[in-house]
Amino acid sequence: MSLTLINVVYLVASVLFILGLKGLTHPRTAVRGNLLGALGMFIAVVVTLLDQRVLTFEYILLGVVIGSLIGAVLAIRIPMTSMPELVAIFNGFGGIASVLVAGAALIEATGNTVSMQFSVSIAASGVIGAVTFLGSIIAFLKLSEVLKKNLAGSGAKALNALLTLATVAASAWLVLEPDNTQAYWIMVAAASLLGIFLVVPIGGADMPVVIAFLNSCSGLAAAATGFVLDNNVLIIAGSLVGASGLILTQIMCKAMNRSLGNVFFAGVGSVAANIGSDDEVYAGKIKSTSADEVAILFDTARRVVIVPGYGMAVAQAQHAVRDLADELEKRGVEVEYAIHPVAGRMPGHMNVLLAEAEVSYDKLVEMDTINPSFQQTDVVLVIGANDVVNPLARQADSGPIAGMPILDVDKARTVVVIKRSLSPGFAGIPNPLFAADNTLMFFGSAKEAILELVAAVKEN
Ligand code: NDP
Repeated sequence: MSLTLINVVYLVASVLFILGLKGLTHPRTAVRGNLLGALGMFIAVVVTLLDQRVLTFEYILLGVVIGSLIGAVLAIRIPMTSMPELVAIFNGFGGIASVLVAGAALIEATGNTVSMQFSVSIAASGVIGAVTFLGSIIAFLKLSEVLKKNLAGSGAKALNALLTLATVAASAWLVLEPDNTQAYWIMVAAASLLGIFLVVPIGGADMPVVIAFLNSCSGLAAAATGFVLDNNVLIIAGSLVGASGLILTQIMCKAMNRSLGNVFFAGVGSVAANIGSDDEVYAGKIKSTSADEVAILFDTARRVVIVPGYGMAVAQAQHAVRDLADELEKRGVEVEYAIHPVAGRMPGHMNVLLAEAEVSYDKLVEMDTINPSFQQTDVVLVIGANDVVNPLARQADSGPIAGMPILDVDKARTVVVIKRSLSPGFAGIPNPLFAADNTLMFFGSAKEAILELVAAVKEN
């Protein structure tokens, strides 16, 4: 296939990617958008295989078969709750692929004169790819809660500054001596350590920003590799991922009320946390409730707001939640869902789950819009959410979630919280909402608790 024809087909694939992204901006068109993007990628892969520069197919086919098998098994078996970890690791794979392809291109070019574009893109692929790979592995370990503590010491900032300097120096060395493969691997090693130590100290509730940022980096690494290989579709697809990841990063930063620099460089522990022990917050103040009691509350309520959180995802309670909302609406209650931008473990997590249960999109109300209405809300039903409704966030010295905008559920007349215990959420701190005068705790796993509630509402 001629190079011109290949580039024309690449252009078609790129248009499909853009249409795909556009489709993904609304739940109604999202499935079609996803399919369009996948079709674009399929066309791009097939056409790349027809490139005359491909000398032999054995290794490529072997890779495609092994990769497809692993991908299919993972996609089928992975529970919805582990999706965020899977996304984190996929970002990482994008990064390591860029490191290896750029390394291979460098080895292949040894002895030839190379352009500045080539050496700069090799350096960019290697650095961004390595930071993305190791950063994503750490993000994966944090999301799967293998790595629980933020291992930041006072030297973290100095170490990161040193590693950044080493990475920049090794990149400059490589650009000046593009024949030097040793410089490449030293640069990759420094960038890998930087990836680890940039993400290790970040914790509490700032992980959504990190995940969105690493997602963007995986795209930028791919775009740089596109320049290495002179491959237009890789440049375009990588830039699209990079740009959309950056937009998401900005949205997540706004959701956390933090700047990107603050997330990466402020250093955990720089704000002295003054939040009290569990005992100080909860002792003697917790009031438990039952399904029958909550059904009576619903009976007199005119407006109910449902606040879903990570626990709803764990329990896969979204269908039961929708049934409950249907029952309440049948009785003339106005029901809305309050969506916090970082609820769950990945951006848009709650929207995806509720869309799966066919909850109408118009009923999902974003934080800024719904917050002023809590004062006029009779009952707020918090289902497996914790950090996103923690009033401690309003306190400047409350550590990991200080300054994060929250759903102001504590301002409602009555708050019912469904969770299994008084365990903390992702940020690992107690939540005074559970001890508030207007809060009732309904202890249990979300799905069973909601099913009990549906039965009680029907009986009432
Ligand atoms: P949290 O992580 O704060 O709290 C979840 C709560 O769910 C826990 O307190 C747990 O309590 C409860 N829970 C767990 N399983 C069940 C179950 N089966 N039934 C009922 N409850 C259950 O969740 P939020 O959604 O409020 O906040 C998200 C947090 O995750 C934020 O800190 C955010 O920054 C962070 N994060 C978000 C990401 C994103 O992109 N959205 C990515 C990475 C991190 P118990 O064990 O007592 O039941």
